[in-house]
Amino acid sequence: MSTNPDYIEVLEARESALSEIREAASRLARRFPLRYWLECDKEEKYPWDFVNTFADAGWLGILLPKAYGGMNLGLTEAAIMLSEIARSGAGMSGASDIHFYVFPPQPIVRHGSEDLKRRILPEMAKGKLLMAFGVTEPTAGVDTSRIRTKAERRGDRWVINGQKVWTTNAQNAKKILLLARTSPRDEARPLDGMTLFVADLDRKHCDVRIIDKLGRAPVDSNEVFIDGLEVADQDVVGEVGRGFYYLVDGLNPERVVVATEGIGIGRAALDLATGYAIRA
Ligand SMILES: Cc1cc2nc3c(=O)[nH]c(=O)nc-3n(C[C@H](O)[C@H](O)[C@H](O)COP(=O)(O)OP(=O)(O)OC[C@H]3O[C@@H](n4cnc5c(N)ncnc54)[C@H](O)[C@@H]3O)c2cc1C
Repeated sequence: MSTNPDYIEVLEARESALSEIREAASRLARRFPLRYWLECDKEEKYPWDFVNTFADAGWLGILLPKAYGGMNLGLTEAAIMLSEIARSGAGMSGASDIHFYVFPPQPIVRHGSEDLKRRILPEMAKGKLLMAFGVTEPTAGVDTSRIRTKAERRGDRWVINGQKVWTTNAQNAKKILLLARTSPRDEARPLDGMTLFVADLDRKHCDVRIIDKLGRAPVDSNEVFIDGLEVADQDVVGEVGRGFYYLVDGLNPERVVVATEGIGIGRAALDLATGYAIRA
């Protein structure tokens, strides 16, 4: 079998570009020693210094198009970045907060209006806007079709009532990407009839209660009780009733990255065991 030299060159160039990403992400993450993470963990302190360092270097927009302040890179690059963050000793306390800038905006990138993209994406790329992600409910975990949070149209606005759980980042987030039922569950097409909203996490209408948990102490998990939250029509992502399908466009690539974050943690353990440089 002959080997095409052009193909090898392409592969080598790709491997070299990925190595650069790996080294750059690792260098940046390793500025934060284990002591930093220990302090964040003990004090349950959100790692803003870490997030801002990645924001200033442009990494929060790794998957966003350049037109919205992003790097326009792909899933492989995002997976490498997050794996290196976990491997640096930051574990999920570091990977999870960067992760939440990278994946929740994906349904907006693919399905949002131009107006919505321009209002949300550049702010997220700069680390100025933290958006929580509200899908899971106490009675609807893996079976998302059973969510009960409801949005009702009133003129050019929507009014949302319901409850979310395990909502990461809701202590600090200004917005929430919220999935709500806009028409009743139909047994024949259970995943239709849910809509995605980019809502203000307005504390007058959202009671955010922290959940005590073991692990990942710096990054908060919450219950969110929503009572009469208004969202404008222009803050609906894509078409009404298609929200679940848009969500999957973000959730599927996200699974890859959660796995590589786990691999990063495993490598950190091996690095420590074999004396490879992790700063104390
Ligand atoms: C650290 C962390 C952060 C999170 N952040 C967010 C967030 O920001 N926003 C958000 O919306 N959610 C978040 N989640 C929630 C997460 O997405 C849910 O935990 C997940 O969707 C599963 O839901 P559940 O925990 O209710 O599990 P369940 O739905 O109760 O499922 C538990 C187990 O039972 C199995 N199971 C369920 N039903 C059946 C059945 N009928 N037959 C056979 N097996 C079944 C499932 O496969 C699973 O293994 C977070 C979770 C964690 C742990």
